[in-house]
Amino acid sequence: MIAERNRLNMTLRQKAFLAIIFAVINFIGSISLALYVNQRFVWLVFILPAVAGIYSLTLRCENCGTPMYKRRIKIWDMEFTYWGGIRIPRNCSHCGTNFNLKK
Ligand SMILES: [Zn+2]
Repeated sequence: MIAERNRLNMTLRQKAFLAIIFAVINFIGSISLALYVNQRFVWLVFILPAVAGIYSLTLRCENCGTPMYKRRIKIWDMEFTYWGGIRIPRNCSHCGTNFNLKK
């Protein structure tokens, strides 16, 4: 049973939140490095948040495997799929699994 447990024991929403914190902290840190230390650090401003962004896109629903940030919206009778959104999703757009629950 121990081997089956999530190694970090965090919910999907906590991982997504950490990725955002990581991006923000590194964005600020890289800008200060580039401004006050050496302009060569300027590439970090783009690379580190991009890494966090890519990591966020790899987070998937533990139940059905749908990417966490792939969302669906229904307008009238048409269904649209889109990526991202301002807030961290609470539920899977496909199967409705609650991302706050630990597995
Ligand atoms: Zn799902």
